[in-house]
Amino acid sequence: MEMERYLSQMAVKEIFPSGQKIIESSSVVVVGMGGTGSAIAEVMVRMGIKKITIVDYDTIENSNLNRQAMYRESDIGLKKVDVAKAELLKINNYVSVESVDQKLISSNAEGILSKADIIMDGTDNYDARHVLNVASVNLNIPWIFSAVEGTYGYVKAILPGKTSCLSCFGYPDKGEGISCTVQGVLPSAVRAISSLACSIALKVLMDKETYGDLIYLDVWKPLLEVMQIPRNKECRVCGTQKD
Ligand SMILES: [Zn+2]
Repeated sequence: MEMERYLSQMAVKEIFPSGQKIIESSSVVVVGMGGTGSAIAEVMVRMGIKKITIVDYDTIENSNLNRQAMYRESDIGLKKVDVAKAELLKINNYVSVESVDQKLISSNAEGILSKADIIMDGTDNYDARHVLNVASVNLNIPWIFSAVEGTYGYVKAILPGKTSCLSCFGYPDKGEGISCTVQGVLPSAVRAISSLACSIALKVLMDKETYGDLIYLDVWKPLLEVMQIPRNKECRVCGTQKD
C-alpha cells in the first residue's frame, strides 16, 4: 500500500530509484510552523520522510489563515505545533512526527536540531535565522534558508564546510524583521518559496546539491535568478574569524 502512495513521485527520474529510499530514511527538523514551515512540513510528510520534528511556540491567529494552509478557523487560539502534528499524522500515519513547543534560541538549538539530516527554515526573523545558521555550522548539518517578502523570496542551501553560510554574505544577525501584516506577503509567494525549498532539500539529501547558490524567485513579475555566493574566509560564523 505504501509503495502505491509514492508511485507518482518515484516515477520522476530525479527521484527514482534511490531517492525514495533516502526520503524514507531521513529526518527533518522544520523550525517555524507559519506559512512556509507548514507547507514544507506537508510536502515532506506526503512524500514519506521518516521523521519530522516541528518547532514553534506560537498560537494560531485569524490573520494567519490567508496563507498558512495547515490551519482552519476552528484552530484559532490553539498551538500551531499541536494542530500541525495532528494534521500531519492524518496525512501520513507512517511518518514519525515530533512537536517541540519552544522558541528556538541559542541555548536550546543544538539539542533540538542535533538528530536532523536536514534543517528547514520556516522562521520570519533575523534572530532565529542566525541561531539556525550558527547551530547548523556547529553541528555540521545542512540547512535550507527560505524567506518571503511581498511577491518574492529567497532560498539557499547552506552546507557547512562546503558552501557559504548566511553570514558569509552579510545577512543581518539581529532583529525581529518586519511583521507580515506590515510589509505584506503574497500567499502564492509563500507556496512557491516553500516548494522551492523542498526541492533543494531533497537534492541535498540525495547528495546532488552542493553549490549553495542563492535563488531569488518573484512570482508576480515573474522572475527567477540564481546568484553565486562564495564562501567568505573571514566569516564570523563559518570562517577564520569565528567567535
Ligand atoms: Zn559563513
